[in-house]
Amino acid sequence: MNGLTRVEIARITDKVLDHAQRYFRSEGFLEIKPVMLACITDPLDGDPGSAVLKTGTIEYGGQNLSLMQSMILHKQKLIAEGFEKIFIMSPNIRLEQPHREKTGRHAFEFMQVDFEIAHGKKEDVFRIVEGFMVSLSEEFQSLKERGKIEMPFERHLVKDLEAEYGPDWETIMSRKSRHPFWALGLEREFYDDEKNNYDLILPEGYGEVLSGGQRIHETEAVLERMKSHGILEKNMEYVEFARQGIVPSAGGGIGVDRLVRYIAEAEHVGDVQLFPRIPGRPVTF
Ligand code: AMP
Ligand code: MG
Repeated sequence: MNGLTRVEIARITDKVLDHAQRYFRSEGFLEIKPVMLACITDPLDGDPGSAVLKTGTIEYGGQNLSLMQSMILHKQKLIAEGFEKIFIMSPNIRLEQPHREKTGRHAFEFMQVDFEIAHGKKEDVFRIVEGFMVSLSEEFQSLKERGKIEMPFERHLVKDLEAEYGPDWETIMSRKSRHPFWALGLEREFYDDEKNNYDLILPEGYGEVLSGGQRIHETEAVLERMKSHGILEKNMEYVEFARQGIVPSAGGGIGVDRLVRYIAEAEHVGDVQLFPRIPGRPVTF
């Protein structure tokens, strides 16, 4: 831990939340209230970065409702209705495996700044996110002192990083790096374009802080992908939605807890949560 008090951590978090909301609004995004329970949520299929034991569910009113793992499917639904640029300060529950306590980056309850751009491309997302990181670095003395964050960020293909550093490329590259960088072309959930997806990796060993992508919008392609990931039958509401027509979009989710950890230079993401929700650790309040 870095010697900050709980109040100091809360002040950093407050400033990050306030900054994110002001920044996304200034870029023309509309803030949407989060959903916390739904009949479908992000299945987190096919993403090697996620390792949930199961999706949290609640039986209510004769329905089995899921706790939201991310709002991607709901963002796509709104985009299809004609929403153009949206963001959500979205609380997520992911029941991560207990061994993830050791990564320093995994909580089972956390928040994303989850955003989506109708007809967006990855370049639109890069501009928005890089602008966000630059403006954030101007707000925080601790970032100003740690290597200037400037646009454009470096971009690396994951297949090149893997060839050079092996499967642990994220940790190795993050530790070596002084600036955030993009990693492109990861293995992904069914809704992400296999070629046009990206992670933003923080420097100094803090690792991934954002994942996103251009979304697959061709009905047949997305149904094919769901079939090959073995998740078609469990997500019939999405199948129905896809048949009505998906509007192309691109977006991503920025992990607030991880961002605060980086700014605060905290050892563990649990150190920046006032009520830590860390896999493998009991909840005490
Ligand atoms: P994903 O699209 O699944 O990568 O989630 C988007 C972002 O949310 C990630 O890049 C992280 O910053 C954050 N995130 C995802 N899972 C967790 C977790 N278990 N604990 C803390 N933050 C997380
Ligand atoms: Mg990810």
